[in-house]
Amino acid sequence: MLKDLEKYAKYWWKEEDEKEYLEIKKDPFKLLIFTILSQNTSSKNTMLAYKNLKSKFKIEVTCLANAKEKDIANAIRQGGLYRIKAKRIKEVSREIKEKYGGLDWIYKMDIKDAKKELKKLKGVGDKTADVIISSIYGSKNAFVVDTHMRRIAIRLGIVDEKATYEEIQNALIKLFPWDSIKNEERTLSLFWLMAKHICNAKKPKCNECIFKENCKWYKKL
Ligand code: SF4
Repeated sequence: MLKDLEKYAKYWWKEEDEKEYLEIKKDPFKLLIFTILSQNTSSKNTMLAYKNLKSKFKIEVTCLANAKEKDIANAIRQGGLYRIKAKRIKEVSREIKEKYGGLDWIYKMDIKDAKKELKKLKGVGDKTADVIISSIYGSKNAFVVDTHMRRIAIRLGIVDEKATYEEIQNALIKLFPWDSIKNEERTLSLFWLMAKHICNAKKPKCNECIFKENCKWYKKL
């Protein structure tokens, strides 16, 4: 069934955005900044805000720690909530600069310790930490639970409304036959695109969903 996920590739990022994101993923700090920009924002506006920020500042710890908050805010206006996000970007950059000088230590730690350490940073929760860790260690090792993943897990009936981040994560991990998946990253990206565009919040397109036969929400319709 998972090969059927390919039909959701039509929702894939534009080629130039995909290229940009692949670059971002190589650097945990850039990924952290991108994740802050993505909070409550569409993928398109997140990318616009990131590219604009990049055109004004070097996306690295010292540069953003020293930048003026209002200049960061001006650069990321397209992303929405720009004042709050500018404050977060400035604060977290300063904190990382003062505490560690950078984020390269992540490569030397095991996954659990790295996540614990990342979560000590102001404004970094499970999701943001997992976004960073999954880009380094692979998606299955830090299955990111965002609002789309939470919604689909509840609708499928594999968790209830009160489920914690970790419970949702464990339930979603069990949906996949990891040993037989050749490209886990692509599979998970396609699943996420499906959760976002097909199992959308307002009007899910259940007839286009490959999970409908096993979906609790669909069976109740
Ligand atoms: S069948 Fe509908 S509600 Fe269920 S997972 Fe698919 S899109 Fe979502």
